[in-house]
Amino acid sequence: MVGNIKIIITLLVVFVIVFAPYNTYAVDYMPVDSGKLINNAIKYDGKKVEYQGEVIGDVMKRGEYAWINVNDGNNAIGIYLRTTEVDKIKTVGNYKYKGDIVKILGTFHRACKQHGGELDIHADRLIIVKKGYRINHAFDIRRAVLGFFLLTVAATLFVMNRKLRNFNTRKS
Ligand SMILES: [Zn+2]
Repeated sequence: MVGNIKIIITLLVVFVIVFAPYNTYAVDYMPVDSGKLINNAIKYDGKKVEYQGEVIGDVMKRGEYAWINVNDGNNAIGIYLRTTEVDKIKTVGNYKYKGDIVKILGTFHRACKQHGGELDIHADRLIIVKKGYRINHAFDIRRAVLGFFLLTVAATLFVMNRKLRNFNTRKS
């Protein structure tokens, strides 16, 4: 009998562990991208949305809350969220770094009353999908090599031109 109760309790615990995290968010958030939000702003206004993209630019912390910009490849959307959520972000995208890819679960505002009519998302939660990394600018090295090569060619032509001119002066 005691064994049966133990099994039942174990099953309940497993059930809660497996299903509880999903119940807290996956159900009510509509997956969107920036194009959908901008083109159907009225439809999504005030709705719970799930938006994904790269964190770019500066994180602006204002006490308990902060602003970040999340770019899905087409547009950057302003996200308003708790500073504690922002602290999950380790890398912000710029010239040197690819920013963290994050999933934002929150409420979309077409013209946010709280923030001077801006289009934004007030996030309930931020989830790191993929960590950012340092960008290796290999292209720049190639450009530098090409630049050096062109400079050498130009210098060679300059020297040859002078020699030729000297030769012609001597001849005349
Ligand atoms: Zn707002």
